[in-house]
Amino acid sequence: VLLDSKAQQTELEWISYPPNGWEEISGLDESYTPIRTYQVCRVMEPNQNNWLRTNWIEKRNAQRIFVELKFTLRDCNSLPGMVGTCKETFNLYYQETDSEVGRSMQETQYVKIDTIAADESFTQGDLGERKMKLNTEVRIIGPLSRQGFYLAFQDVGACIALVSVKVYYKKCWSIIENLTIFPDTVTGSEFSSLVEVEGICVNNAEEEADNSPKMHCSAEGEWLVPIGKCICKAGFHQKGDACEPCGRGYYKTSSQDLQCSRCPMHSFVDREGSRRCDCDDGYYRAFSDPPSAACTRPPSAPQNLVYNINQTTLSLEWNPPADTGGRNDVTYRVRCQHCSWEPEECKPCGPHVGYFPAQSQLVDTYVNVVDLLAHANYTFEVEAVNGVSDLSRTQRLFATVSIATGQAAPSIVGEVIKEKVQQRSIQLSWQEPRQLNGAITEYEIKYYKKDQKDRTYSTVRAKSTSATVNNLKPSTAYVFQIRAFTQAGYGTFGPRMEITTKEEETAAIVSSEQNPVIIIAVVAVAGTIILVFMVFGFIIGRRHCGYSKADQEGDEELYFQFKFPGSKTYIDPETNEDPNRSVHQFAKELDASYVQIERVLGAGQFGEVCSGRLKVPGKRDAAVAIKTLKVGHTEKQKKDFLCEASIMGQFDHPNVVHLEGVVTRGKPVMIVTEFMENGSLDAFLRIHDGQFTIIQLVGMLRGIASGMRYLADMGYVHRNLAARNVLVNSNLVCKVSDFGLSRTINDDPEAVYSTTGGKISVRWTAPEAIQFRKFTSASDVWSYGVVMWEVMSFGERPYWDMSNQDVMKALEESYRLPAPMDCAPGLHQLMLDCWKKDRGERPKFDQIISILDKMIRNPNTLKTPVGTCTSPLLGQSVSNVSAFHSVEEWLVAIKMERYRDNLTAAGYISLESVARMSTEDVVRLGITQVEHQKKLMSSIQTMRAQMFHLHHTGVQV
Ligand code: AMP
Repeated sequence: VLLDSKAQQTELEWISYPPNGWEEISGLDESYTPIRTYQVCRVMEPNQNNWLRTNWIEKRNAQRIFVELKFTLRDCNSLPGMVGTCKETFNLYYQETDSEVGRSMQETQYVKIDTIAADESFTQGDLGERKMKLNTEVRIIGPLSRQGFYLAFQDVGACIALVSVKVYYKKCWSIIENLTIFPDTVTGSEFSSLVEVEGICVNNAEEEADNSPKMHCSAEGEWLVPIGKCICKAGFHQKGDACEPCGRGYYKTSSQDLQCSRCPMHSFVDREGSRRCDCDDGYYRAFSDPPSAACTRPPSAPQNLVYNINQTTLSLEWNPPADTGGRNDVTYRVRCQHCSWEPEECKPCGPHVGYFPAQSQLVDTYVNVVDLLAHANYTFEVEAVNGVSDLSRTQRLFATVSIATGQAAPSIVGEVIKEKVQQRSIQLSWQEPRQLNGAITEYEIKYYKKDQKDRTYSTVRAKSTSATVNNLKPSTAYVFQIRAFTQAGYGTFGPRMEITTKEEETAAIVSSEQNPVIIIAVVAVAGTIILVFMVFGFIIGRRHCGYSKADQEGDEELYFQFKFPGSKTYIDPETNEDPNRSVHQFAKELDASYVQIERVLGAGQFGEVCSGRLKVPGKRDAAVAIKTLKVGHTEKQKKDFLCEASIMGQFDHPNVVHLEGVVTRGKPVMIVTEFMENGSLDAFLRIHDGQFTIIQLVGMLRGIASGMRYLADMGYVHRNLAARNVLVNSNLVCKVSDFGLSRTINDDPEAVYSTTGGKISVRWTAPEAIQFRKFTSASDVWSYGVVMWEVMSFGERPYWDMSNQDVMKALEESYRLPAPMDCAPGLHQLMLDCWKKDRGERPKFDQIISILDKMIRNPNTLKTPVGTCTSPLLGQSVSNVSAFHSVEEWLVAIKMERYRDNLTAAGYISLESVARMSTEDVVRLGITQVEHQKKLMSSIQTMRAQMFHLHHTGVQV
């Protein structure tokens, strides 16, 4: 509150000018509390101009200021012998200044806020005495640009007592929501503006990733549209509106976790607010272990280690350890030591020893060790290890065996090199085996022709590590293998080596230029290239021209048929199991920070609908509408909500509302569409009743038909087309909207449950869709006809106040809506065609567009010839009301003349009075037969509709 005159008990000392005008007087308020008031009552003297100015009021940070005045005002009639100078109003002014400006007053510096009149000047009391009434008036000023202001009251000859003056502004009071503190915020300067406020996380909370918390302060001082939130940091959990540290023995790793958890097994924490727990002594956590995993320790030693030795090959086997340390990632590793007797010492075996399947990371409980030295002593240690073995500093636990190898043949020879390859001989050399296991006396070289069938081979022996194999055939591939021999026998053969002998020189008769193979290859390649060019030429030709000469070849057509993409087909997002995926298949995900909400347009079924701006970096800002999904929605609600975006995202047409994108990764979930400045078509037309030309109206209808043709071509059936589901932009362009029936129909006040299941807007829906749920583009055409009627009647409600039941019945009896006022017969005929009972007879949207186009091109066809638009409801079974001249005639026509006396007795003597009858009135006539009541009511409603129509067209009944 910036000023409250009632709160002050001492003199107000406002400036009164001239001094004999306003007077400060002490009084009592309604509850007898002493107050200071100002009064003036110079009604007897003409030309009054009495000013009263308040003291300077500092505006602080207010933008929109409320001035509440309580006053009484005498009505001039109550003043006995009143002359004509008495007034019943006074004027309220203000002057903005940056500081106090002294006590002089200049009228011209004041800006008028309003003329204030009393709601009630006097009331007559029970005993006939006149009582003064206290009036309360509130005026709003702003936005203000200076530091403060004065208020001034100008009296021009009324009798006023200014009982109290209160000056205040509104703010949204500081709140904590979603662990976020939103500070006291002064409301914006305009009635509909929202002030966006960034919140601050409470202690020990942090902003949810990419989703900084915001709220909007409305002009009424209410917080609206929360976005984003704060969450408790690691080590803290939420308690009420605060984040408290996790207790001892509890931890919380991340802000994403909701609760603190008890320390896992073998771990502890003895401080508060911990992110993780420490392991007990002797227990560890592997690097890959999550903080929620129990602490573990290295396993015990493998059990029952046994071995089996064969010459220089050893196999080891063992059983798993008794204690795995609490883990299930136990593997084994083997350490080999080669020991000598003199001096007695052991050294690691080195790389020449082979381990199968491996030396470490063994999952199974065995290993084979090969290539040990013959006649040697070894010690083997087998250790069980797990994920924490390398972290532990405690002593390792092994199973150990010592073994001695026996006599053994040499290992395989080292690398083989081809020294010289001739037409009939090959010279090879090789390296000694890595393990000789004794003295090598001989090498054996085995060889055979690679592609021989009879599997025979020859051998050559050598004393040293090289040999020449002779008597080979030229240009022939041979395979060689070599092995060494000691006293202990032959070692194994080394790997196979393939070598081809040289060609005989006399074989090179044909030079490469004349080689027929090469020539054939060149011709073949050239041919292929030409063929490829021909094919491409053909394809390109077809693409550009549609029909090409290549068709002459007849069956080429078959090989090169291309399917050109036709119009896109609508895909029902319901067919996708995962609605989140389907929404991203068709809709762009927008970063929440690109969307700036500015004002609330209204409330939808799922949350507020707002307007705002979309600021995508590198793109022009766009005005957008933003539908939000309220916090606390169910998954089903989210699915239904996003379903609209999945559908809308598939469309791209100037008469279909365009989807900019969705925000599903932030909160709230939003659907962002282009902004349609004029809102929904029905309300828009009602506001502008009679203000558009017929051409403008038909232009709107053409747009809607064009959008509907596009949807029908895509195979999309709207099912709920109505003027309220069409939006209008600032250029009067109409766009079809409200997709996803389950979402929009539940939101639609017109929709009711039908007997065939599901909700339906009866007045807009084709009979076959109501009765058998046969929704098609032809039923959309029916709805379009109703939209035509709505547009041409500037938003009149189809079938007025008839009940849904009566509408269905009337349609069944072939009644149709009459032409609205000033509606060209051609347009009404088009509506009637849309409402053909047989859906096959209704026009297609194509045809509707061309009919409308013709009308637009020949505006004469849109004129209403006098009297033509008076064609009433097209009833075949009941005649036209203009055919009856009396109640009696009407009763005869509908075979209800037996009730003539009932009607006359109740005073229903004119058709107009009959047309106003309700069902209760009919019952009150004493008509007990329900069938008759219904028949009368149905006919009365038809009559009412016709009269409405006739009334609008100016024809008297
Ligand atoms: P809906 O939930 O789609 O029916 O939207 C509720 C209301 O928000 C509509 O009746 C319109 O008045 C308004 N609205 C919806 N979409 C837009 C838009 N794209 N531009 C302007 N207003 C809109």
